[in-house]
Amino acid sequence: MGKTISIIGSGFSSLSAACYLAKAGHKVSVFEKNDTVGGRARQLVRDGFTFDIGPSWYWMPDVFEKFFNDFGKSTNDYYQLDKLSPAYKIFFSDDVITIGDHMDQICEEFERIEAGSSKPLRKFIARAQNHYDIAINKVVLKPGVSPFELVTKEIITRIDQFFKTISSEVRKNFKNPKLIATLEFPVLFLGAKPNQTPSFYSFMNYADFGLGTWHPKGGMYEIIKAMKNLAEDLGVSINTSNNVEKIKVEKGKTTGIEVNGKIINSDIVLSGADYHHSETLLDKAYRQYSESYWDKRTFAPSSLLFYIGFDKKLKNVEHHNLFFDTDFEAHAEEIYDKPQWPENPLFYVNFPSVTDKSMAPDGCETGFFLIPIAPDLEDTEELREQYFDIIINRFEKKTAQNVKNHILFKESFCVKDFISEYNSYKGNAYGMANTLRQTAFLRPKLKSKKVDGLYFTGQLTVPGPGVPPSLISGKLVADLIEKNEV
Ligand SMILES: Cc1cc2nc3c(=O)[nH]c(=O)nc-3n(C[C@H](O)[C@H](O)[C@H](O)COP(=O)(O)OP(=O)(O)OC[C@H]3O[C@@H](n4cnc5c(N)ncnc54)[C@H](O)[C@@H]3O)c2cc1C
Repeated sequence: MGKTISIIGSGFSSLSAACYLAKAGHKVSVFEKNDTVGGRARQLVRDGFTFDIGPSWYWMPDVFEKFFNDFGKSTNDYYQLDKLSPAYKIFFSDDVITIGDHMDQICEEFERIEAGSSKPLRKFIARAQNHYDIAINKVVLKPGVSPFELVTKEIITRIDQFFKTISSEVRKNFKNPKLIATLEFPVLFLGAKPNQTPSFYSFMNYADFGLGTWHPKGGMYEIIKAMKNLAEDLGVSINTSNNVEKIKVEKGKTTGIEVNGKIINSDIVLSGADYHHSETLLDKAYRQYSESYWDKRTFAPSSLLFYIGFDKKLKNVEHHNLFFDTDFEAHAEEIYDKPQWPENPLFYVNFPSVTDKSMAPDGCETGFFLIPIAPDLEDTEELREQYFDIIINRFEKKTAQNVKNHILFKESFCVKDFISEYNSYKGNAYGMANTLRQTAFLRPKLKSKKVDGLYFTGQLTVPGPGVPPSLISGKLVADLIEKNEV
């Protein structure tokens, strides 16, 4: 007999878990506080412009494909996937590096910057590929229940890779600061500084240079739409504008949730909302982690974002553009070590309409500007505007064009919105970082230690931040529920 399962939230992890649990024969209902599904990956459509509010980099296409294959489907059944060529462009203070869509082009670009660098690059990426195979096929598929999960031949023989950092590994092989920044960029997705991230995570470099950067036509929200359709086809009931106010517990076992004052009886409750918030839905006695526990964790950054409709096509830009024309170290310090608004921020700009006409009206450009910042910073309109001026001036200078007079509209999103829209802890954007002390079994657990029948999923638990890990997190928790409860 299937169980009645209530899932809180409709981000990637919740939708993934909903699909696996419904396929296993359970009666699954999703309750989302916002009026659309997708969580941090929602969409903004305005005056013919389409913006992905959150994720924009489609990496690790194999993980998405595997997800849909598990249901007898393929990504092709739902959306058209295009490989971006070039993958992205990085603006430095004195040069621009373009990352092509295969290794030969990337090696050529590395040689242009530092003669002889393509040889160590090929070796570095070969090692990264090896790590990727182990990470994706072995490590991330562990539920983080016990340290013994990691006691495998593959991990033991690479144990040094967990104690060295990606930063030391990169610096050992490359001297040019621009190449170092290029190779340290992918691990920023894991939410911590490269000198705090184990070198095993160089598998992100393989995801970048080896597997490439892709774009689902219509934007990242196409994946959410696909997962929603799949979930509904499998019988999942999806309820938006349903804010969960309480997780009900009787005699140490969950009995359901309270939504808009109404009790929904459930055998199992699974929360894909931010872990810290999920625990506040429980009486104090049933929470596993104290406020000081959360306060001591390394959180991934928050972000200041601008969604802009431009009335013309922009020049000298690609689909993805990184502005690393200021000091990487100084900005990282202002995110992690001495949290404060950055003096000279690095930023990222996404123009999906450069490669996908469907994202903007004819002759226009859809622009998404992102500055990573420390969580919990003061967030005011004045600060947002001050930072907008800083980056737009730099953007105009680096790309040699006027854009300020071509803005049709601009919307912003920052710390306060992450809290009000998603109940995000301290307004984090990307969850809890993957540092050595916050990896695998050292992360908040998928299963509650205090309440029977209560589970968690998403970017604050295993395996960690990012869309592919969130898809995997949903599968891991669904497998754990099957193992424990059925
Ligand atoms: C700006 C930005 C850019 C990013 N870029 C990338 C990228 O390019 N590539 C990539 O791979 N990853 C990226 N990420 C990370 C990625 O988006 C996340 O890791 C992933 O979407 C997290 O999914 P989740 O299921 O853990 O949580 P969420 O998406 O946060 O979903 C949680 C859901 O729970 C809901 N909820 C909260 N409280 C309640 C409640 N009480 N009742 C009901 N519902 C509730 C929330 O509204 C939300 O919908 C980005 C994130 C952001 C914010």
